[in-house]
Amino acid sequence: MSDHSSLVGGSSADRYINCLGAAQLGKSVPVPMVGAAAHLGTALHYVMEALLKPEATAVPRDLIGDVVELDETDAGGNPVKIELTEALVLMKIQPAIDWFEQVLKPDQYWLEERVEFKGELEGAFGTADVLYIKDGTAGVVDWKFGGHRVSAKNNAQLQFYLAAALQSEWFYDMTVKEGLMHFEAHIVQPSFQYRAGNAKAMEDIANRARYSFEDLCLFHASLRWAKKMKDEGNHTLSCGRWCQFCRAQPVCPAWSQRGSDAIASLKKVPVEGAVFKSGAKKGETKPVSPAVQSKATLALEAEDTIRERYLEATALSGWCEAVKKYVADRFAAGAPIKGLKRVVHREVRMWKDEEKARLWAKAKGLGASEYNTPRALISVAKMEALLGEGTLKESLVQKAPRGIAVVRENDPRPSVDGFESSSSSALSDALNKT
Ligand code: SF4
Repeated sequence: MSDHSSLVGGSSADRYINCLGAAQLGKSVPVPMVGAAAHLGTALHYVMEALLKPEATAVPRDLIGDVVELDETDAGGNPVKIELTEALVLMKIQPAIDWFEQVLKPDQYWLEERVEFKGELEGAFGTADVLYIKDGTAGVVDWKFGGHRVSAKNNAQLQFYLAAALQSEWFYDMTVKEGLMHFEAHIVQPSFQYRAGNAKAMEDIANRARYSFEDLCLFHASLRWAKKMKDEGNHTLSCGRWCQFCRAQPVCPAWSQRGSDAIASLKKVPVEGAVFKSGAKKGETKPVSPAVQSKATLALEAEDTIRERYLEATALSGWCEAVKKYVADRFAAGAPIKGLKRVVHREVRMWKDEEKARLWAKAKGLGASEYNTPRALISVAKMEALLGEGTLKESLVQKAPRGIAVVRENDPRPSVDGFESSSSSALSDALNKT
């Protein structure tokens, strides 16, 4: 699998152009461990390459049960091995191969092709999954095996691969010199919903965009501009969609500011004299207590404002999750944050044995649709609400912690780590200073 450019690569191109400060801020944050999803993606890319090589004779089904051993290690330092289950082969690999052979059908193609910029952007490179030429068109294909849907439109990663490929004499000669001034870019993203033989489903796993030669020149110019700005010391932070995979997001001042601004804007809403939409007679005004201020705000605000609030809240909740994950990762890495500690989250009641609990619920006269959700047995609390307090059979229920929570150090619950975070490691001290 490809290595990564320390300057800018395909997956970081959007961020590189749009947030001049991301690279510098990112230096203060440890590089996270490669997760299981990324390992799986790497393994599936290997498989795609192996199956699409012109000399390949195997078909996807031949690989069911095989194990791909990666040149990478997991959190425990063990080599990563990915078993190619039937589901992975038939729902991920097979559809991508079908799409390539039955829909794209390229005349010529190059797999896992390293593409790189020259001149001012020397050192910026990436690896295109597929470059191809077909009937007077040329393009790039990117396999995506994760669940997060990606569009080929306005896609900086795909433009990066095409613009970088055009720096190579061989690709430029075969395309632009031959009069090809438009390029196709495809994201192929099979989902577990795919059913072989369904032509529509096979087309639906891919989406496509067209980029002109001018678009790619403009994109190249944007990269050069960003490089020049950074070289001149401009590290302005700018929030946007490109923050999603930025490892600096949890410590990013631009996001802290955005969160503070959102809270401040809520506080500014006038409360006195607000008119309730419900609970008050038409035209009647009631003073609104701070506790219900946000409800009154929603009732009074225009549709546009609510929409903007919703979008802002969605963006901020992503940031909140990133901050929580960062803190959890720091504790897991033995580098706790000063003033915080890990405790056992509150205990919840769970079923000891769901099958026995089902039989018991049935004996109590409940129908299957009452004690089952589409996926599982209803929770203990819901069952109690259904049958009444004190009716549960104790032997069916157990208490178990809901997990680990990170809380303030003065929380009365004991730390699960057996030490307070102020007695932290050298790594923690170094990170707490950043
Ligand atoms: S989170 Fe966004 S704004 Fe902050 S450094 Fe990363 S890309 Fe820039």
